[in-house]
Amino acid sequence: MPESWVEREKLLLAPYAMPSAASAGRKYPEPAHPYRSPFQRDRDRIVHCAAFRRLSAKTQVFTGDLGDYHRTRLTHTLEVASLARTLGRALRLNEDLIEALALIHDLGHPPFGHAGEEALDDCLRDEGGFSHNRHALTIVEELEQRYPEFPGLNLSREVLAGQEARADKRAGPVLLEVQVVDAADSVAYDSHDADDALELGLLRLDELMALPLWREAQRRVRERYAVLAGHELRRAVIKELIDWQISDLLDEARRRLKDATARPGAGGPAECVIRPRDAMAAQKQEIEAFLQERVYRHPQVVAIRERAKQRLHERFSALLAAPALLPPFFQQRAKAVGKARAAGEYLACLTDQAALRGA
Ligand code: MG
Repeated sequence: MPESWVEREKLLLAPYAMPSAASAGRKYPEPAHPYRSPFQRDRDRIVHCAAFRRLSAKTQVFTGDLGDYHRTRLTHTLEVASLARTLGRALRLNEDLIEALALIHDLGHPPFGHAGEEALDDCLRDEGGFSHNRHALTIVEELEQRYPEFPGLNLSREVLAGQEARADKRAGPVLLEVQVVDAADSVAYDSHDADDALELGLLRLDELMALPLWREAQRRVRERYAVLAGHELRRAVIKELIDWQISDLLDEARRRLKDATARPGAGGPAECVIRPRDAMAAQKQEIEAFLQERVYRHPQVVAIRERAKQRLHERFSALLAAPALLPPFFQQRAKAVGKARAAGEYLACLTDQAALRGA
């Protein structure tokens, strides 16, 4: 049955979800696939691309110098996809679109996380700077070379527009599938950055007790498991933090979507409806400020960040001085976008290790 997914979505999706059959299509038109919906194909194309595999060797917050417990850019991406699909299924949204959006959301991160992004933004200052959200679009529209018929992955317009909304917050009404991924990203990093920092010894459990969000999550855990301590307590609190935030998002979304009969952009809600309740939002801000101060600016983390930035600056200067060091694809690309942009794009595509090696 070639288009069984159309019938399946009719049965499953809420009126405010994005149905695959209503997709605006692809830049380079392609015939429909016999058994996969357009958004399933998008998700599969992302999973099979080289940039996605490289996420496994890219820093989320902590580099490999600190240990091997913590998240990489790939495992963060998979956690976001998992949480976003949970939200999407509970709200009867399009899970295939959600998964594609989640898997692409951090695809444009350069090596060394935000330190790498700052370094490349500096290097490309006179060229309009560097943004990982925009670089993800460049990757999927121009840099990936997998298909003979077109450059990039030729993804559906809804996936590209969702990523565009991340790159440019002013972009018009945003599909609920996009909003779900944004919310899941925030739940994921607030909880796993705290978890990773505790495991790596950058934070102590008692320090987090200064935060009402953590204190309340721990109180809830203690109600059920009075004797937990140490690692066991930490893991239970992290799980509670995630459950609590996801439930809060769902309650608030259901309240805001009660009367919605269409998707955003087609007469549905114009404002963001997948967001925490005000009380939760305030507590999340507190934990984010705390992590910013105590973890992302921890002397050990800062020292590694500074070395990483210096390394990218060195490599960028070397490539500008000798563009022949660029792989042939990027030498060719320099003719279209200029030497500096091509060098920046090349460096942004590298894994942490590949950025450390090389001239
Ligand atoms: Mg992310």
